[in-house]
Parts: sequence; C-alpha cells; structure tokens
Amino acid sequence: MANPKRKISKSKRDKRRAPWMRRLTAPSFSECPNCGEVKLPHHACPKCGYYKGQKIFEAEE
Ligand SMILES: [Zn+2]
Repeated sequence: MANPKRKISKSKRDKRRAPWMRRLTAPSFSECPNCGEVKLPHHACPKCGYYKGQKIFEAEE
C-alpha cells in the first residue's frame, strides 16, 4: 500500500494548513511569443489567439 515514509511534523502539517501560505505565491504571467502581450501561462493569448505557435481562435481587433 502506498504509505508516506515519514510522519509529517506538527510544524509542517500546520504550515500546510495555514491560510497565509496560500496567499504568498503571486499569480504568474508569461509573455506571448507571437505578439509579446502578457498572458496567463498554459493559456492561449487573449490578444492574438495563439498558443504554442498555433492559432487557436480568431482574435477580435
Ligand atoms: Zn499574442
């Protein structure tokens, strides 16, 4: 059976449950290689509609 090798210490467990930890990671952005616009990573660019060099949708001008 899949089992954790070690017991998670109280401090690690409590850190995971702490709500302030989740706020620390800032929302990330990446740059569109097609038009240079700032976009969400792993998403098609909202401006030109390209993702991974392929056109996903027609972007409105
Ligand atoms: Zn783009």
